[in-house]
Amino acid sequence: MIRLRFAPSPTGHLHVGGVRTALFNWLYAKKNNGKFILRIEDTDLERSSKEFENEILDSMKWCGLDWDEGPDKGGDFGPYRQSERLEIYKEHINQLLKEEKAYYAVYKGEEVIHKSYEFPEEYNTKDFSIVVKFKINKEGSVRFNDLLKGEIEFKNEYIDDFIILRSNGIPVYNFTVVIDDHYMEITHVIRGEDHISNTQKQILLYQAFNWNIPEFMHIPLILGNDRKPLSKRHGGTTVDFFRKEGYLKSALMNYLALLGWTIEDEIFNFKDKIDNFVPEKISNKGVIFDYEKLEWICGKHLRLLDIEELYSELKEWLGYINDIEFINMLEKDIDFSKEVIKISREKINTLKQLKDFSYNFFNDNYDYDEKYIQKFLKKEWAPELLKTTITKFEELQEYTIESVEKTIREIADLKITSKKNTFQTIRGAVLGKLVTPGLFESIAVLGKEKTISRLKKTEV
Ligand code: GLU
Repeated sequence: MIRLRFAPSPTGHLHVGGVRTALFNWLYAKKNNGKFILRIEDTDLERSSKEFENEILDSMKWCGLDWDEGPDKGGDFGPYRQSERLEIYKEHINQLLKEEKAYYAVYKGEEVIHKSYEFPEEYNTKDFSIVVKFKINKEGSVRFNDLLKGEIEFKNEYIDDFIILRSNGIPVYNFTVVIDDHYMEITHVIRGEDHISNTQKQILLYQAFNWNIPEFMHIPLILGNDRKPLSKRHGGTTVDFFRKEGYLKSALMNYLALLGWTIEDEIFNFKDKIDNFVPEKISNKGVIFDYEKLEWICGKHLRLLDIEELYSELKEWLGYINDIEFINMLEKDIDFSKEVIKISREKINTLKQLKDFSYNFFNDNYDYDEKYIQKFLKKEWAPELLKTTITKFEELQEYTIESVEKTIREIADLKITSKKNTFQTIRGAVLGKLVTPGLFESIAVLGKEKTISRLKKTEV
């Protein structure tokens, strides 16, 4: 059975690089009818928190990366939280000590002053710190066949005996990961190439225990536009950030899948592409995170959804950012809201933009843009134009795109001002600003009552 895992540390928000790693593990598992496991690596007690763990689980679910076994679900290979596995680690540290493959090292400050296979009781005071170190045979080397990078060899002469148990009694990542991957029967480890030097140490541990070594695949990191690993300096990097900014999950996952994975289509749902996933086709070069491309992809997805789906995505997002006010505005008249969304989405790319762009449809107390006031509303022809517009729209019975268009063209034909001025003055009057969905569509959606009262708002 093929088994892969994603093993985040709950020391911060979930980074998009982590999501991409998780995605490739997920795809690999699904393609091979295997299992995908979520393991929480929380041995850094000071930096780990339950809040971050919950958020990571929530972000993973939001991304659609469901797991077969994990801390919330259980499974036959648990516990799936490292802080609950300390006994298992302890046993294995003891085994290595007994087999003289590891030893206690006593530190005084920076210096090792004593080594032994037995616990050095005489140094067990606050003046010293006692760790366990794994012994390296300097003559040897580690060789493995990385699924992406091919044959890799590390000579042991370049590494030193390394700590596996800290003085606070907590084992280190390189140790726990081996124990867990072994007992969780992980067959393939896909992770960022920043871990490649850890792989050497981990393989030495597998060998010390006489365990099978999983397949490794180290994928290039996501970079910022300066080709340094993507970090806060470049902009938002976490799932939480993109969620708050109103990106659709399908778009974020589509974009992350495209980062390094050559696939013919550009716009897709990653769950439809399981069979197309060929790990060897992942690029072996660092890939640059392109915020504009992501936004563009999001716009494509946004326009592909049907209106029901888009409406529920919008509401879900508003719930996430806790914008109860706008949810209430939408729910006042759901049919109207859906019509507004339909005509608004042509010009925007994210849910946040959708809200900003459509807001004045729901808000009768809008202010006028300063530019609108100066360039149109204050002009000497404006009162006559608006008065005529009110009369014409009061006469109009049925508000369809065609009838609204006809009415506005008739008003323009009166030549109170230029055609452009006519259009923009009416646009600003009913929506407060100059960039809006199509004018005829907008007025048709607003309907008679709202249009008239909004036009009259200019008179006060
Ligand atoms: N907890 C490690 C990390 O977040 C996991 C690395 C691995 O996949 O082995 O980097």
